[in-house]
Amino acid sequence: MTAHGGIYCPKCGSPLTERDGELLCEAGGMYLSLRLRSILTGMVGNGPVDVPPASFGWGGSPYFCPADGTRMAESEGRMRCPACGRCMPSTIPYQLTEFHPHAAVRRPEDAGADHGDSSA
Ligand SMILES: [Zn+2]
Ligand SMILES: [Zn+2]
Repeated sequence: MTAHGGIYCPKCGSPLTERDGELLCEAGGMYLSLRLRSILTGMVGNGPVDVPPASFGWGGSPYFCPADGTRMAESEGRMRCPACGRCMPSTIPYQLTEFHPHAAVRRPEDAGADHGDSSA
């Protein structure tokens, strides 16, 4: 039984794992701050909540729904999950860019660069 009840990384959509009492995105090497954790936990627990549109552009980086890992889409100033209707609070981009460095996630198509050289 996990205490966090299943939360997905807002930056890459991977399921977060709990380690030493903190939530970690293993794919990105990113630990969540308590602040971000409480925001995401609230999003998952509260269900879809109407949020005011952000006063800024969400930019080109993708966001993923913490409840189901679905890639969110921007619509009328809101970053919204097409699967469940949850919206990212406008505090999220600041939290992520300022406090949560996330490693670039390798896509399967990038793996072709491996050498695979097993000769001795
Ligand atoms: Zn991640
Ligand atoms: Zn969702």
